[in-house]
Amino acid sequence: MTRFAIGIDIGATWVRVAIGSEDGELLGRVVEKTSKFPGTDIVRWLADTISALMQKVSVKKISGIGIGSIGPLDIRRGMILTPVNAPLRNVNLVSPLRKKFSVPVYLVNDATAGVIGEKMYGRGEKYENIVYVTLSTGIGGGVYVDGNLLIGKDGNAAEIGHMVIDMEGKLVCGCGKRGHWEAYCSGKNIPNFARYLISRSDEELVKRSLLTKETGGDFSKLTAEMIFRLADKGDELARNIVNEVGRLNAIGFSVLVNMYDPELITIGGAVALKNPKHLVLNPIIENIGEYAINRIPRIEITTLREDVVLLGALGLAMEPPETYLRYIKSD
Ligand SMILES: [Zn+2]
Repeated sequence: MTRFAIGIDIGATWVRVAIGSEDGELLGRVVEKTSKFPGTDIVRWLADTISALMQKVSVKKISGIGIGSIGPLDIRRGMILTPVNAPLRNVNLVSPLRKKFSVPVYLVNDATAGVIGEKMYGRGEKYENIVYVTLSTGIGGGVYVDGNLLIGKDGNAAEIGHMVIDMEGKLVCGCGKRGHWEAYCSGKNIPNFARYLISRSDEELVKRSLLTKETGGDFSKLTAEMIFRLADKGDELARNIVNEVGRLNAIGFSVLVNMYDPELITIGGAVALKNPKHLVLNPIIENIGEYAINRIPRIEITTLREDVVLLGALGLAMEPPETYLRYIKSD
């Protein structure tokens, strides 16, 4: 008999809830803005939405509920703490849902859910060593080594966005520390990195750039989308910025290759999915050889696209990784 479960993806912008089968087919889904749920309001909405979805597809019994969420999390207590980019505050998520539906409920960081999705339903199915990277508002990761999902002492084994890639620490990260990868290459921080690069660029080049034209010279109006779009049009300054972002991404990816020795790295997140592939993926592939000592793995944009976290959450509910189960049961 086919088993069904619930997958939940709680992101900075959207909350997605889906009911799916064990082979990863999503039968029904509901999407809502995260900003609609200040404080702890999300719990009741999730419970109602799950009930409605079960009714809609006539599934009487689910095997479990899996959640991939923006952090910081306390995955042992099943809580979302206080995310910087969403209004959720100290949400006790796991135990109320477990009580209401009488099934196991599991919570992981969204990028961890991403790598679970990749391993169970994506290109990672035949691999034991996989890294998933999200290039989004922030930069996050999930990692399998030798078939084991990495967890760490506090559940933060893959906080890859906060690896130091610039020892001079020119830019400050959202976490408050300097020189972190995310401070240069996340969707939120690319404009800041661009301003730094523009301040060091040839004046004439800046003057004739479409970036100057489109912002009226007020570079506080820069967005990552604008920079990629104008680079794609051939604007030289925008191209330079995109190339620098690509080179720093290559440094970040080389560290992942050197440390985890993966067979496959997949990339998701809005920066990777919404901008031209040749401007995001190619600079990484072209530059990584300069920094990596280990054999370069396959590096590709996730074929699961926007559903990678949702599918990972579904997979988490179906078949929670052993290292994760051991971690939440320990103290
Ligand atoms: Zn940081």
